[in-house]
Amino acid sequence: MNLFDCNLEDLRRWATDQGLPAYRGQQIFEGLYQQPVQRFADIKGLPKKLAQDLDIQSPLLPAQEIRRQTSADGTVKSLLRFHDGALAECVSIPTKNRHTICVSSQIGCPVGCTFCASGLDGLGRNLSAGEMVYQVLFHHGRRKVTNVVYMGSGEPLFNYTNVLKSIEILAEPRGLFLGRRRFTVSTSGVADKIRQFAHDEPQVTLALSLHAPDDYTRSRIVPLNKKWPIAELMSAMDDYTNKVNRRMTLEYVLLADDNMSRQQASKLAKLANRYGAHINLIPFNPVSGVPHQLPAWNAVEAFAQQVEEAGGHATIRGQRGADIDAACGQLKEREQAKT
Ligand code: SF4
Repeated sequence: MNLFDCNLEDLRRWATDQGLPAYRGQQIFEGLYQQPVQRFADIKGLPKKLAQDLDIQSPLLPAQEIRRQTSADGTVKSLLRFHDGALAECVSIPTKNRHTICVSSQIGCPVGCTFCASGLDGLGRNLSAGEMVYQVLFHHGRRKVTNVVYMGSGEPLFNYTNVLKSIEILAEPRGLFLGRRRFTVSTSGVADKIRQFAHDEPQVTLALSLHAPDDYTRSRIVPLNKKWPIAELMSAMDDYTNKVNRRMTLEYVLLADDNMSRQQASKLAKLANRYGAHINLIPFNPVSGVPHQLPAWNAVEAFAQQVEEAGGHATIRGQRGADIDAACGQLKEREQAKT
């Protein structure tokens, strides 16, 4: 059993199921999130005999770090191996005032965006809530985590229940106590779940990975667009913004010769303005095995200016970890290529 899958109530119940007082469950929960622990014996206040028995029954930690890359800008990318051998990446992004963790929600990804290494082998499996929680906790030991973004491998809204439970666990006041506004979930456009998300987690920021403002281009880059084309996606976004009444973010990866024309800049600005959305422009990070080219820097700047001229608000997102395999899925691909 992965105890990181448990919220506070689950752990109280688990303790009573073990014939222990319920407060032992709470003690373990607090121990997991309020101090760095490797095994039950590290949890303060737990009786020695009980901790020893629990350590013998099963390992406390659900994953091991098998590879790490550290960028000159402080970004740390870790490849974790879970109990069944599945591999997933998580990234720690420190800045002056923040420590953001980029979490993977699935092993691989079923969406198959053409610019992304994570989708190359399709979906392995969903990650459990605890496996996502642990990605955050893993980096929390080095510096207090302030923000969590579900932007690693996988489509979070295809693993909806587990993603929501991981947010609940990380937001628990007796644990890390991260406010819900410190979470961002990024979706490639699962229209029906966008509506549900507005109802279930109105405080959590939703980012939409648009990547193209017209169906012809988007269906080529983001295959999910064939199921939920832009008009349908925008209808879901209308419902979302009416319900949560908050600004959202559009993510737009810049692919040379694909989605960077003046006409596309103008369409993108129009779509964003409909929601008062901010646009994050992300220059493509070259990945072996995917058919896209890095755009020239002056083309990136020109596109950003064209978006602004058309009335949009865009930021070119700095490439964190540019000197390591920073694009999602690259470290895992490299590791798998060795075996
Ligand atoms: S960009 Fe996101 S949704 Fe698309 S294949 Fe990669 S992980 Fe999946």
